[in-house]
Amino acid sequence: MTTAAGPPEPVSIPGTHSVGPAEKAGILVEALPYIRRFWGQVVVVKYGGNALAASTLESNGGAEAEARASFATDVVLMRSVGMRPLIVHGGGPQIGDLMARLGKVPEFVDGLRVTDAETLDIARMVLVGKVNRDIVSAINVHGPLAVGVSGEDAGLISAQARDPQLGFVGDVAAVNPDLLVRLMAEDLIPVVATIGSDSKGQAYNINADTVAGAIAEAVGATKLVYLTDVDGIRRDQEDPATRLSRATTSELEDLIRTGAVAGGMVPKVRSCVRAVRSGVRHAHILDGRQAHALLLEIFTREGVGTMVSTDQEEKAE
Ligand code: ADP
Ligand code: MG
Repeated sequence: MTTAAGPPEPVSIPGTHSVGPAEKAGILVEALPYIRRFWGQVVVVKYGGNALAASTLESNGGAEAEARASFATDVVLMRSVGMRPLIVHGGGPQIGDLMARLGKVPEFVDGLRVTDAETLDIARMVLVGKVNRDIVSAINVHGPLAVGVSGEDAGLISAQARDPQLGFVGDVAAVNPDLLVRLMAEDLIPVVATIGSDSKGQAYNINADTVAGAIAEAVGATKLVYLTDVDGIRRDQEDPATRLSRATTSELEDLIRTGAVAGGMVPKVRSCVRAVRSGVRHAHILDGRQAHALLLEIFTREGVGTMVSTDQEEKAE
């Protein structure tokens, strides 16, 4: 039930005035089949900490707010044409920033970062108290739409320790999507911070890529989209010309095996593979620093980034 009088004031979107009326109409017509196809469908979007932070590094904090505002516009547009967006966010660089400001030196065991109790507190404060709030606020400029939740809320993410030596870094043991389903049934946009908890109430920091995939599966999403700081999956990490516009699950398993997919790309690719095998139609990896990458992928024929599908589907198309 909304009590607001009339539609909200239009929000001015930079960069939308340079296109002529004919092109504008063409763009809308091209979007129509996609709007129809995705009506009522859940699209899980993982907004990476690096995509969020990339613009800050260049100059000032204003750029980060601008990137967030542009992302929020895309999400609200998706929702306005009948999709059900569900946001999962990261925040690694933002956690690192606060740790540095507090003078906390990261500890490593065999090259893996240790999350001690103090680090977990910092991670939780940054993810739940800052990054989550910033995204929720950016969306709610457009209307009362977004609700921020932590994986600890209503049993959303059950976690287990990955390795006791590494402290409070967890893996997803189970996802209970009830809370998310209820929020979406009320036409709200859930924004999830990826802290999970175990049966005793101990919190764990969990990789947001893995959580996004597990949530996409649990809610029966149609699409899973990763917004990161690179334009897609590359055969050669350093060479933009080697970006794959499409990839199948077995191709990607090969790329992980040979080490061509490495570091922060591994949990994304693993989650994409798993998600499309368990019923998510398509998974995408896009450059979240590119303005409106999300809209380009969803509403245009060309698409951007890398699209992942199962081997069977690739053959059928
Ligand atoms: P996010 O904050 O979005 O999770 P990550 O830094 O964890 O970002 O992961 C993205 C990074 O993965 C890229 O910036 C790139 O350095 C790295 N990467 C590793 N292998 C590949 C690959 N094959 N193609 C593209 N990027 C890759
Ligand atoms: Mg990452």
